[in-house]
Amino acid sequence: MAGGEELTLKILVDKAQNKVLFAEAGEEFVDILLSFLTLPLGTIVRLLSMPSDSSQLEFGSLSTLYQSVSALQTKHFWTKVGKDMLLNPRNSAAAQCQKLKIDIDDTARTKYFMCPDMLNDKHAGSPLLSTLEDVKCTCGSLMNTQMELVASDVRLQESTSGVFVTETASFIITDDLQIMPNLLGTTVALLSTHGKTDTKVLEERTLKVGVEEVLNLLRGSLLSKTPLTDLVRQGPFSCNIVKSDTGKYLPRITDSINTNCRRMAVKVLVQKSTKKALLAQVEEEFVDFLFSFLTIPLGSVVSLLGGECSLRSINNLYNSLRSLDAERHIKSQDLKDMLLEPMLAQKFLCKNQILPIREVEAPTLYCVFNGPHSYLIDKRKNSPFFTMLANDLTVTPFSSLSVISALDRLNIPLGDVEEREMSIGMEEVRNWHCHNAFVGTLLM
Ligand SMILES: [Zn+2]
Repeated sequence: MAGGEELTLKILVDKAQNKVLFAEAGEEFVDILLSFLTLPLGTIVRLLSMPSDSSQLEFGSLSTLYQSVSALQTKHFWTKVGKDMLLNPRNSAAAQCQKLKIDIDDTARTKYFMCPDMLNDKHAGSPLLSTLEDVKCTCGSLMNTQMELVASDVRLQESTSGVFVTETASFIITDDLQIMPNLLGTTVALLSTHGKTDTKVLEERTLKVGVEEVLNLLRGSLLSKTPLTDLVRQGPFSCNIVKSDTGKYLPRITDSINTNCRRMAVKVLVQKSTKKALLAQVEEEFVDFLFSFLTIPLGSVVSLLGGECSLRSINNLYNSLRSLDAERHIKSQDLKDMLLEPMLAQKFLCKNQILPIREVEAPTLYCVFNGPHSYLIDKRKNSPFFTMLANDLTVTPFSSLSVISALDRLNIPLGDVEEREMSIGMEEVRNWHCHNAFVGTLLM
């Protein structure tokens, strides 16, 4: 966990209600929000039920499932690492998430182990590399020589800031986690939706966001309608639990997906009077499938449910990502696809999987033999990292909040403001000596 890192978030608050109308943020904060979609469910349960977490919230059946795995003895699993894989599932986007300003996922990084006898002729053409320690090599030795993986992709090394969204992008985030490009029109529309035409009732504040706040946001994104307001009010977590808007039942997985998938028969004991399932008698393959829920990334769940799960703020987050522009707001289409449909980490696809989810392809790794200083390199061609966009032309980052305070200073009610499109030529550009001049031009 990146300890001590902090970032600041500008928020617009309704003073009377102490309620956040929206936040204005750049790439660092939005990257963190989007990374929630890559977290496997097991990781979410683990992070939010840590002893340090005073609320000790339970996430329904998922918490029960996690506790069941945790209580089972290792002998019930195929391998000794099986249990650990479920309790500490890997994030297939871990390489990206490690670059987040605040990375709450403390799952150990992927390690690589090679056969100590790596130059032995007996290996010709057979695998001698494993992500698990002490797996038997084809030559009979145990693979226990840990190898360092060196990223050979220059772009991967150079891209120092920005993970998913472009560095120049600025966003408006509503209290229920809708993310929108930061445009004056968006802000004005949002304020009028909230009926806030008088800027006097509003106040701009700065919020410090560290590890604890990000964990609270993750929790709020799952349980609250107002995760940002919860963050401001601090106090005990309000746990404004959202009931599924669609009522008692979760939406169905679309039929087209359904018909292509394997099925598993399960015997269930049902209470006749209430039609309630009491318990099910299942084969081990079903248990295998059930446990695999812990390894599925949150974004995959939303994707399987067609963008409509029972968590409102998560739906908002997911669907705003859908409408953000790849290239302009998200660094690339590859990254956008990766977030909209996060895959399982390598080796995490259980053979009894019913759901149409995939695991990431194993990267092709090359070993550079250099005695005790041997190392691995990753020569993946289609790395989702792109060179950064040049930011030379941006002098002052655009800020909707500063526009609002400008309106306030000028005593202009928001009801009096509308968004217009204007044609900008050389002449207009010449007038943009300062931010206020630009605002002045726009409002004319
Ligand atoms: Zn070997």
